[in-house]
Amino acid sequence: MTAKIIDGTAIAEKIRAEVAAEVKQRVDANLTVPGLATVLVGENPASQAYVRSKHKACAEVGIRSVGLELPATTSQSEVEEHVKKLNDDPTIHGILVQLPLPTGFDEEKILSAVDLRKDVDGFHPINIGRLAQKGRDPLFTPATPTGVMYLLYQQLSSLEGLNAVVLGRSNIVGMPTTLLLIRANATVTLCHSHSKDLPSICRQADVLVAAIGRTEMVRKDWVKPGAIVIDVGINRVEDPSKPRGYRLVGDVAFKEVKEIAGAITPVPGGVGPMTIAMLLKNTLKAAILAEL
Ligand code: NDP
Repeated sequence: MTAKIIDGTAIAEKIRAEVAAEVKQRVDANLTVPGLATVLVGENPASQAYVRSKHKACAEVGIRSVGLELPATTSQSEVEEHVKKLNDDPTIHGILVQLPLPTGFDEEKILSAVDLRKDVDGFHPINIGRLAQKGRDPLFTPATPTGVMYLLYQQLSSLEGLNAVVLGRSNIVGMPTTLLLIRANATVTLCHSHSKDLPSICRQADVLVAAIGRTEMVRKDWVKPGAIVIDVGINRVEDPSKPRGYRLVGDVAFKEVKEIAGAITPVPGGVGPMTIAMLLKNTLKAAILAEL
């Protein structure tokens, strides 16, 4: 059996085109243009690159975006003040605080300062809390986990009763993905660095989501035949044949696992493009919410 390769780039492209069409309709109808503000503290090159690609993606779909770049020496209260100013700015519908913040900042306090209705990253403690509670609905859900769910629903009409295994329990990926899978009525096992015998747990999975940041750790004999495998991991591997001297690989040994899985996401070109597509969708939703 050879797995279906899930083309995240094409799926994300379609979502971006839908967002662009909706933004254009708003412009034509003289409604407010969605606006996103990013808040970047410090000079982490990876964060700078992520923020740049978010602004580029906004421009491509007609979303207005502004970037606040603050030195790492900015105080906690100054960052919170900046966020509050953005809360009061009617042209800004979504606020994204780029994580991780430099050491020493109280991340939870800064995320809590974001107006719930502008929390397009879905990391406000109230939105995350609602995600974890039965009968409550967050206004926004985090972009990467929402992208994972979107890809799963491209393969399956329902996740009801399926066994799902999530590798990794970070606030950004593993935990919210688990919560979303639970809401979709899957039976979920969440694994982390203290879990024992990962291969046998993973072999129970109809749906396997890997988000651990460990190069090609998931092997063929970890995967149930026909399972859907979503690889969130992005790891750099030295490769002198590439212009940058490295290539990107996932947490899953793609070549061998595709021989047994039913469907699998590649790295790059799987979950990665979905993250920004979901952020754009959330920003559009925030602009619509602002009018209600
Ligand atoms: P974190 O480092 O925050 O979390 C990693 C998680 O994996 C932790 O819960 C950790 O367990 C667990 N883990 C680490 N090693 C092992 C192991 N050997 N066995 C079992 N569990 C392990 O990473 P993130 O969640 O932020 O990111 C995970 C991966 O996803 C990274 O490669 C990252 O680059 C990528 N990523 C991709 C995105 C995309 O858009 N495609 C977006 C965000 C991240 P413990 O809690 O016990 O320490």
